[in-house]
Amino acid sequence: MGIALVGLGNYSTNTLAPALQETKTAYLAGIVTGTPSKEEIWMKKYGIPRKNVYNYENYEEIAHNPDIDIIYVVLPNSMHKEYTIRAARAGKHVICEKPMALNAEECRDMIAACKENNVQLSIGYRMQFEPHTQEIMRLGQEKVFGDLRQISCGAGYREKRPDHWKVKRAMGGGAMMDMGVYPLQAARYVTGEEPVKVNARSYVIRPNVFAEAEEVMLFDLEFPSGCIASLSTGFHTGFNYLKVFAEDGRFELDPFSSYRGIKGKTSKGVLDFPVVNQQATQMDEVAECILSGKPMRVPGEEGLKDMIVVDKIYKCAAKAKC
Ligand code: NAD
Repeated sequence: MGIALVGLGNYSTNTLAPALQETKTAYLAGIVTGTPSKEEIWMKKYGIPRKNVYNYENYEEIAHNPDIDIIYVVLPNSMHKEYTIRAARAGKHVICEKPMALNAEECRDMIAACKENNVQLSIGYRMQFEPHTQEIMRLGQEKVFGDLRQISCGAGYREKRPDHWKVKRAMGGGAMMDMGVYPLQAARYVTGEEPVKVNARSYVIRPNVFAEAEEVMLFDLEFPSGCIASLSTGFHTGFNYLKVFAEDGRFELDPFSSYRGIKGKTSKGVLDFPVVNQQATQMDEVAECILSGKPMRVPGEEGLKDMIVVDKIYKCAAKAKC
């Protein structure tokens, strides 16, 4: 299955294109870029033919290109909706990066467009393809250590690039719209439940850098089973952990959402699973699902469920400011 990457920024360049050299079912067939100087570099480096190179204006012409089966939207979050819907109308299956869009309403429009055009939609939640993470999901959802009581999870990094932040404005928010979806996802995939209550508080520690969006978001979720999750994200410091406390034991991953080196243990011992290239596994499985007609592990509806909570987190954080 041929994949075309749309938006050749950091994630496409440094992670997805290299991962597509390790895939078995998916391959890098084409690119869509607004920067002409990148075209020659990518064509030469990855052997992409000129006829599979597009820009944002002639993007729709992909509809007539049988080499491209899947369009992978790797643009700023504010552009996910438009480029997913345009891909669906061109009759191509879509992988869209996380967070799926700016809000739940946009996600619903994207899902509807893919259904109308009879194409599949998957969200780039690579962790759900990672074996330690899959085991943690099993331990939580099957209540292997009894009922879940509390989840503590956080993901953040120290954002030092002032220019980078200008680009990040296109992300539709601050840390919550970047790393924030990882702890949110973790709480949802460990419990297998949707939260019934949300609490949130945002902070700006460096107002000269973060004038328009939150630098830190602390948020709590309460699940129907009674499990409580205390979650955080931020651009103020580096952290990456997931700890789950259950009735009869505990289990954790540290780090829990990095590209490599996921490590885990339970109250009974160390988790020992193979190291995989998360992105290669993700893209191969999406391609295999399309070929076989199997349901997607991470469909658009999964991105929507996160954005329903993200909308509540922002609403709640705004109120907490009063
Ligand atoms: P980036 O800023 O490095 O790249 C974005 C690309 O979009 C650039 O090539 C830029 O030129 C292009 N672009 C086109 N029109 C633009 C416009 N109007 N404004 C700004 N940029 C424009 O970002 P990135 O880090 O590659 O992130 C892209 C997406 O991938 C985001 O949604 C991000 O959340 C997601 N991402 C996911 C992971 C993951 O692990 N799943 C990791 C990194 C990024």
